Amino acid sequence: MIGKLTKGENNTSADNDTAIVTIRGVIQWAVRELQCSGIDSPRLDAEVILSHLLGCDRTELHTHPEKPVQCAIASQYKKAIQRRVQRTPLQYITHHAEFMSLDFYVNESVLIPRPETELLVEAAIKKANGFLSEDEIIVIDIGVGSGNIAVSLAKYIDISKIYAIDISPEAIDIAKINARKHGVENKITFLCGNIYEPLQSRGIKIKAHFIVSNPPYIASSELSVLQQEVRDYEPHTALISGTSGLEMFERILEDISSWLRPSGFLLLEVAEKQARQIIKMMKNTNIFTSIQRIKDYQNISRILIAQREDNIGQDRN
Ligand code: GLN
Repeated sequence: MIGKLTKGENNTSADNDTAIVTIRGVIQWAVRELQCSGIDSPRLDAEVILSHLLGCDRTELHTHPEKPVQCAIASQYKKAIQRRVQRTPLQYITHHAEFMSLDFYVNESVLIPRPETELLVEAAIKKANGFLSEDEIIVIDIGVGSGNIAVSLAKYIDISKIYAIDISPEAIDIAKINARKHGVENKITFLCGNIYEPLQSRGIKIKAHFIVSNPPYIASSELSVLQQEVRDYEPHTALISGTSGLEMFERILEDISSWLRPSGFLLLEVAEKQARQIIKMMKNTNIFTSIQRIKDYQNISRILIAQREDNIGQDRN
């Protein structure tokens, strides 16, 4: 049960009837509520939500703690804090998530972009330097979600032409919002469907310089052990991949040779303890000459980069 946000909450005025709620007062109230319900970063969350509702920077909350908060805002704040107490992720409350220094609109239809995924984008940007003599760098993004990968690549690789695919029409809508927001909608073709299936008539067979994906990779049996924020609020289609967690990787690799061009790169984000199995699956395709792994901030092999042989015809004979 959430406590009462009263007029005069920790206010300087001793008289509750004339007192109004201040920035300091509502934050103190919210921090207590969040702390009591076991939220890890109560002050940060309380401040981020309030600055979002007030449309100001967090620093302003610190410089003007005595400023009054209008009743309407105080009531919205109470509802928002209530949602956080119930473990709605902060980003779904504010509808903002930062990725590659860009601001992404997010809601419950899409996964919240994670910092680890930036490693994949950074690696793709670096590898793209090897293709600068090309007229166009073709990228296929499988599971576009909020558009974090596709939009950042479009933003940071000048000559990119991106095919962004998702099974969820709601996710495609959000990704389009983000592409427009960052002015890259002309560089991205959004396609709703299953893995490579919507690419069939696009004339890009064996033309992709990059195939990138942060696919669903959690085993269905692991759902119950996920953090409540993730389990109860993030879209399961974006998280779960069959009983092993490896199904999507199998399906991406199954038909990879029809789409990746010679010397092209496949970049995949993988879960802890999956790297070895996926590298084995990659080797079984017999099309890659090198496979590299990148570790994340917790020293977990998180990104796999596989480069296709440069002469398909010769190796096929
Ligand atoms: N590309 C998005 C992300 O990396 C969505 C991934 C997904 O839906 N599995 O967050």
